[in-house]
Amino acid sequence: MAINRAFIFLGPPGAGKGTQAKRIAKLCGVPHLSTGDMMRDAVSRGTDLGKVVGPIMQRGELVSDELVMKMIEERLAQPDCAAGCLFDGFPRTLPQSEGLDRILESKGFGKPVVVDLSVGEEKLLRRLTGRRTCGVGGEIYNVYDAPPKVDGICDNDGGKLVQRADDTAEVVKQRLAAYDRATKPLTEYYRRQGVLHVVDASASMDEVSRALGEIVKRAEGRNGHL
Ligand code: AMP
Repeated sequence: MAINRAFIFLGPPGAGKGTQAKRIAKLCGVPHLSTGDMMRDAVSRGTDLGKVVGPIMQRGELVSDELVMKMIEERLAQPDCAAGCLFDGFPRTLPQSEGLDRILESKGFGKPVVVDLSVGEEKLLRRLTGRRTCGVGGEIYNVYDAPPKVDGICDNDGGKLVQRADDTAEVVKQRLAAYDRATKPLTEYYRRQGVLHVVDASASMDEVSRALGEIVKRAEGRNGHL
């Protein structure tokens, strides 16, 4: 469906952006664009980009605006983004937001719908350091809140559960600091434009999905089903 609109999911690492972004992108029928996923993919394929960004990501620091904008511009030029898309983990700095505004304008898109997924720091730490992902099917668990039946093994396919390289306590601290310094000010940027919605993301995944579905429905003036 032609919606000509971008959705932006802001929020600290561990707020559940990835899970929610996948669900809502499906609901809206638009591609889910996660800059973190794109870069992890480049790292695992060993591309030139991957070789540059891999060590930066390992340290929990932000990749340069120039590289990120180039990647996004290339991705947005693909035909599947013609009618809209949902950004997850982008923009993360003010120059990225300003760059995105220019791109959206040139594509004839309306103002983006921006959602800030807000969660307290203690919960974030628990979600991030407890996160484990199945190496086979990608199913996500949490050793504290949503553990598998057998320690370290995926319930679905018996795959080994692994921890993301940047989910260790030390790197998580850096990622949260980068968020506070560079990304948090974006909420004010979008609030001033009158396009910001804040959602309490400490609630359950399904409750958060419902709240997001309502926002999307209002924005599009149509029914949403999750
Ligand atoms: P994420 O999967 O969104 O948590 O991103 C993982 C890592 O990728 C971040 O800690 C950064 O190193 C890098 N990254 C992802 N998106 C961006 C972005 N928009 N700007 C700069 N760095 C990014």
